[in-house]
Amino acid sequence: MSLFQTIKTPVVTYEQPLGLFINNEFIKGVEGKTFETINPHNEKPIVAVHEATEKDVDIAVQAARRALEGEWKQVTPSERGRLLTRLADFLERDIDTVAAIEALDNGKGVTMAKGDVAASAGCLRYYGGWADKIFGQTIDTDRGSLTYTRHEPVGVCGQIIPWNFPLLMIAWKIGPAVATGNTVIIKTAEQTPLSGLYVAKLIKEAGFPPGVINVISGFGRTAGAAIASHMDIDKVAFTGSTLVGRGILQAAAKSNLKKVTLELGGKSPNIVLPDANLEEAIGWVNLGIFFNHGQCCCAGSRILVHEDIYDQFLELFKKRAEENKVGDPFKTDTFQGPQVSQLQYDRIMNYIVDAKHAGAKVVTGGERHGNEGYYIQPTIFADVHEDMKIVKEEVFGPVCTVQKVRDEDEAIRVANSTNYGLAAAVHTTNINSAIRVSNAIKAGTVWVNNYNTLHYQMPFGGFKESGLGRELGSYALENYTEVKTVRIHLSQA
Ligand code: ADP
Repeated sequence: MSLFQTIKTPVVTYEQPLGLFINNEFIKGVEGKTFETINPHNEKPIVAVHEATEKDVDIAVQAARRALEGEWKQVTPSERGRLLTRLADFLERDIDTVAAIEALDNGKGVTMAKGDVAASAGCLRYYGGWADKIFGQTIDTDRGSLTYTRHEPVGVCGQIIPWNFPLLMIAWKIGPAVATGNTVIIKTAEQTPLSGLYVAKLIKEAGFPPGVINVISGFGRTAGAAIASHMDIDKVAFTGSTLVGRGILQAAAKSNLKKVTLELGGKSPNIVLPDANLEEAIGWVNLGIFFNHGQCCCAGSRILVHEDIYDQFLELFKKRAEENKVGDPFKTDTFQGPQVSQLQYDRIMNYIVDAKHAGAKVVTGGERHGNEGYYIQPTIFADVHEDMKIVKEEVFGPVCTVQKVRDEDEAIRVANSTNYGLAAAVHTTNINSAIRVSNAIKAGTVWVNNYNTLHYQMPFGGFKESGLGRELGSYALENYTEVKTVRIHLSQA
């Protein structure tokens, strides 16, 4: 099988790389395996890409190690920043192509995908700005010594990303890693390998030395597991399910105690208090759950509404959800495209069927949308109990529950009654309620009168079983640096 193929999308025709990107070259996997990626809009294969297995991970690690010890070490911090900025420029230059790839491979609406490209470029540029601003401290302990710290790169970093934001996750991962002088092997999700390979081409064009950023396509159980347990990878960063995240932590512990950061699942509460601006709150609640087809780890899937406004809220929210345009990702006004895969479609439909059997009331949706592609109607359940699966487990689809709460205290109790702690929101016009609730909720991000407004300058990550460490902002830099203390004894004159 060849290493490139021309792909025609409804908006652009472009050259898609298919190989593993190691040492700045696209190559075939050692075992010669390939796998197909499916268009979720029509359930048909788009193209096959080369598959990385354990041996290819080894080769990529060797390339990353060589770069780390060699050419990359000679590159100045400001040059690292310039390279990231150039990559951001190229993403923006190719925005139509990259957005089309995301729409094709992931199914997200092309307008949303353009938002991802812009956010990815912003993130890379942001970390490019950090590259020459990484420094330690000088510490005065006594007159007889000089002590200072150096923030050194951790080393070779393995990065494993999911399929819900294929491009954006690359930017979140490589930005802080490369800015701080590490080298990277990034494994894209098997459902969405195409944008990563296109970015790989841009990485080469931007002028990164060979081996600094390696991009491989492959499966979790093989390539992903090989990264997590590799003896020569110094750090692993993972975004995905809590189940797999636990396994990554175990594999790291069993192998070389590589540093681990995890960004995992959620079952985030979205609280609407009676003094909220209802119309605005409904807009945010709608975006909170249905943005990216519900395929967000921070999706506001548990909506907790004060009893005084519950009936009115449900009526308006139903109306709002039914206005969401579901359909072809290549239509510019599409809000919700298909779910990413047959597997995800089946998982979500099982949750819907289970909720119906358990007695939850379907306010709207609850069925497949159309008869081709992995489309699911925006679905709202009411009359749910705290012990129902649909309330407790992460669905990762366009499905939410609305629960009635008596007061602020009950809202906080219910909000916190989960093992997850990724995100939350409260809608209110009372500053005291806003601060009381946001202080009381155990979650890494609390939005007040908005939802899903992530930004590369703001740290993001989970309390409890939603993760370890923080991505984005200056906080992410800590994941990618080791602090070295140097103490110098001064000879007395
Ligand atoms: P989902 O179930 O939504 O696909 P996963 O957590 O399974 O989410 O996948 C997220 C990423 O983790 C993907 O890149 C996937 O290939 C990878 N992955 C899955 N299983 C493993 C594993 N056992 N070890 C390492 N990576 C894995």
